[in-house]
Amino acid sequence: MLIYGKEIREKIKNEIARAAEQQPMTLAVIVVGQEKASQSYVNSIVRFGEEAGVKVDKVELNANITEDSLIACINEYNHNELVDGIMLQTPLPEGINTERVIDAIAFTKDVEGLHNTNLGMLAAKKASVAPATPKAVMRILKEHDIILEGKKVCIIGRSTVVGLPLALMMIHASATVTVCHSKTARLADEIRSADIVVAAMGRINFVTADMIGSEQVIIDVGTNFDSSGKMFGDISPEAKEKAAVASAVPGGVGLITVAELFDNLRILKAQ
Ligand code: NAP
Repeated sequence: MLIYGKEIREKIKNEIARAAEQQPMTLAVIVVGQEKASQSYVNSIVRFGEEAGVKVDKVELNANITEDSLIACINEYNHNELVDGIMLQTPLPEGINTERVIDAIAFTKDVEGLHNTNLGMLAAKKASVAPATPKAVMRILKEHDIILEGKKVCIIGRSTVVGLPLALMMIHASATVTVCHSKTARLADEIRSADIVVAAMGRINFVTADMIGSEQVIIDVGTNFDSSGKMFGDISPEAKEKAAVASAVPGGVGLITVAELFDNLRILKAQ
C-alpha cells in the first residue's frame, strides 16, 4: 500500500491556521544566493504560510555575502520581537561554515530544530522542537497506526537533518534502531532484517525489491532529481510494491516536512 502526505499536511495546516488566528506568527526565511532547488523549497514555505495565515518574510541575500555579515543579519532577526522563528535555507555558498551560522540563530527561534542546543535537548528527551523531516516521518507512522515500540528499524543515513535526529526520536519511542551509512557492511542484510526501513540517503532508487519483504514498512525520505528534473526517492517502485506499506515520492514525507516547520513555529510562539 502506497501512503501519501496530503491529508496529514492539511490537518496540520488547519491546526496552524487556528493557532495563527489566536496568536499571529511571523517566520523569517533567509535565502543566500539563487540555487534552484532552494528556491522551490522556499516557495513552498511561502505558499504554506499564505494558506495557513502565517506571515513569511523572505530575506534574499547575495551569494557573495561574508559569513560575518550573514551572522550579523541573523542577529538582527534574533533581536526582532516581531519575528517568532528563523529558517536558514541550506546549502550555503562554499566558504561559509554552515554549522557556525546555524548556531548563530537564537535557539528559541530555531524552527528547524538544528541548533546544537535543540539537538542536545532532543537527545536528552527535553526538546520542544525537533528537525522537521524526522518529525514528518514520525507523524506519517503515527497517523497510519504503525507502532514503533519493540520494532526493529533500519535508518539509512546519519545526517544531522534527518537520520541522526530520527534515530533519537525512534529510540525514545522504544524502537530498536540501526543507523546505516556509506561505511556500513552488508547494508542489504540490515535492511532485510528490519520491520521498518527509512531511507534518507539521496540515491535514486537505491533500495531494490530484493532487499524488501512483504511484511515491511518502508518510508522514503529521498528527494532526488534526474537530469530531466524528474523526482525520485531512494526506494525503487518495485520495492514499494512488494512492501506492506510504503510512502510515496513525490507526495509523501516531503509534503509533511513543510507543515512540521510551521508546527515548530507554533510551538516556539506558544513558549
Ligand atoms: P546527506 O547529508 O547527504 O546524508 C546522506 C546519508 O546517506 C549519509 O549519512 C551517507 O553516509 C548515507 N549514504 C549515502 N550513500 C550511501 C550508500 N550508498 N550506502 C549507505 N549510506 C549511504 O543527505 P540528507 O540531507 O540527510 O538527505 C538525504 C535525502 O533525503 C536526500 O535525498 C534529500 O534530498 C532528502 N531530504 C528530504 C527531505 C524531505 O522533506 N522529504 C528533507 C531533507 C532531506 P555517510 O554519512 O557515510 O556519508
